[in-house]
Amino acid sequence: MNDLKDELLWTWVQFPPPPPNNMKKTLLLILFLLIPTNIFATNPVIKGLDTFEVVKDKLHQTATWHKMPAIVVCTHAPVEKEKVQKSIKFWKKLGYRFHSSVYFKESRSAEACMSDNPVGYIVIDLVTQKTFGNYDDMAITHFYIDNRTREIHWARIYLKTNVEERVLEHELGHALGWMHSTTTGHLMHKKWVHGGWKIDGLKK
Ligand SMILES: [Zn+2]
Repeated sequence: MNDLKDELLWTWVQFPPPPPNNMKKTLLLILFLLIPTNIFATNPVIKGLDTFEVVKDKLHQTATWHKMPAIVVCTHAPVEKEKVQKSIKFWKKLGYRFHSSVYFKESRSAEACMSDNPVGYIVIDLVTQKTFGNYDDMAITHFYIDNRTREIHWARIYLKTNVEERVLEHELGHALGWMHSTTTGHLMHKKWVHGGWKIDGLKK
């Protein structure tokens, strides 16, 4: 048995103060966490952002892509190409569209991987100390949306090594704007151990 599987997965959303000349943008940070002991022992601190936990009873899509996102997998991302393709296929079957090219650990990935503002991309990368602080986390998804049109501009998924089954599909769900579900066995359940392959409400 893997003890980690019994731990809670928490989601947080962080809103930055609006940029001075542009009031409509909002950065949402979704953290998919495994915290073994005290949930509030430490906070995900990103300078200038407020943090609160997302509490929603119903499955909720907070924003959508208006153009097809392209998937970029960075050099150190702990996933094989097959796993990424399987996850994309999963969401395609539900009616979501992606750019046909998947940039997998190649030179063309580098620009989006290095960018602070990788517009048009869902970037998959390895976690860093900077993105996780001292957490004993599993994965995290950040996404940046236009708060007025609810358009997702970019998303960035950070994975830890040994990616468990369903984690990438779950994080892609966040990257597509989905919050958590409280339904047992649902892909978007916030607790990994109570999650599953149920897709109620996700179909486009
Ligand atoms: Zn999650």
